Amino acid sequence: MTTSQPNPYEHLAIRWDPNLPEQFKTVVCGPGWATLIADLVESTGDDFLVSQIKEKFGGLRYYVRPADGLDEHAEARGRQMIDDAERASCKTCETCGAPGEKTQKGHIHKTVCEECR
Ligand SMILES: [Zn+2]
Repeated sequence: MTTSQPNPYEHLAIRWDPNLPEQFKTVVCGPGWATLIADLVESTGDDFLVSQIKEKFGGLRYYVRPADGLDEHAEARGRQMIDDAERASCKTCETCGAPGEKTQKGHIHKTVCEECR
């Protein structure tokens, strides 16, 4: 298992919503989505405050609100990037980052590759 690996999200400059309690300022996703999320933080980081980053039903959920004074176009562009990343996560193994697909075991949905199944 990979539980001893360093948290790939620890060093991201995520602009958390300041109203968020400290214990929620953490990315609840497997390491396979590190690149997706790092890219998103880099491209939208100045424009949005992040309230939650997690996995749900095998896909990335990246919840944000626009920063004060963000104009409509920048917001639409940022939300598009978030949509794209959420869609990409549904084809990316959450464990290792290889191309994957959504699977279901009981009530648990997960996007994984053949190897990580
Ligand atoms: Zn994998």
